[in-house]
Amino acid sequence: MDQIKIGKFIAECRKNNHLTQMQLAEKLNITDRAISKWENGKAMPDSSIMLALCSELKISVNELLSGEVLEMNNYNEKVEQNLLEMVKQKEESDKRLLSIEIVIGVLISIIFFTLVFIASYVEMKDWLRATLILTGFIPFIIMIPFAIRIEQKAGYYECQKCHNKYIPTYSSVFWAMHINRTRYMKCPKCNQRSWQKKVINKEQDK
Ligand SMILES: [Zn+2]
Repeated sequence: MDQIKIGKFIAECRKNNHLTQMQLAEKLNITDRAISKWENGKAMPDSSIMLALCSELKISVNELLSGEVLEMNNYNEKVEQNLLEMVKQKEESDKRLLSIEIVIGVLISIIFFTLVFIASYVEMKDWLRATLILTGFIPFIIMIPFAIRIEQKAGYYECQKCHNKYIPTYSSVFWAMHINRTRYMKCPKCNQRSWQKKVINKEQDK
């Protein structure tokens, strides 16, 4: 999807409807900064706001994603292209998120082991030693909720019993036993517990 083209199209439709960025922002209950970001091609409207935006601009979601007014004869073809493109973009951003999670994990481990190493081998007072080791836990406490949020939202978990692929709740991911990213959770579809694997693509084969 061409973000620049979409941005220009949003601006054009907004002007055709005689709206300023501010007025459109007010109707959508967001900041005019967000609208200016879309129009400059720096960001895409969130899926949660797309329908409201399209109804204000009097266009279809398909036209918004195509960045142009569509004729009836190539409408369906464009729908398919846009859908495929969106799936692909989500997969790529999920993959990026999951690599960020690994970086976070490596960083907090390095900090932790460095501090523990210093506390164990360098001459110092006991209280300082204890403080260093406790400090090593702080990055864990701060970063783990982030990492879990990524793991919950990026991609899907696949039930090993019925092969349902779904996005679990934050608390079920948080409390589940896990080996790396494989988590022991209850499937919302078949209600059975299994070691569920992380998958990026909803349609991919097992
Ligand atoms: Zn299941």
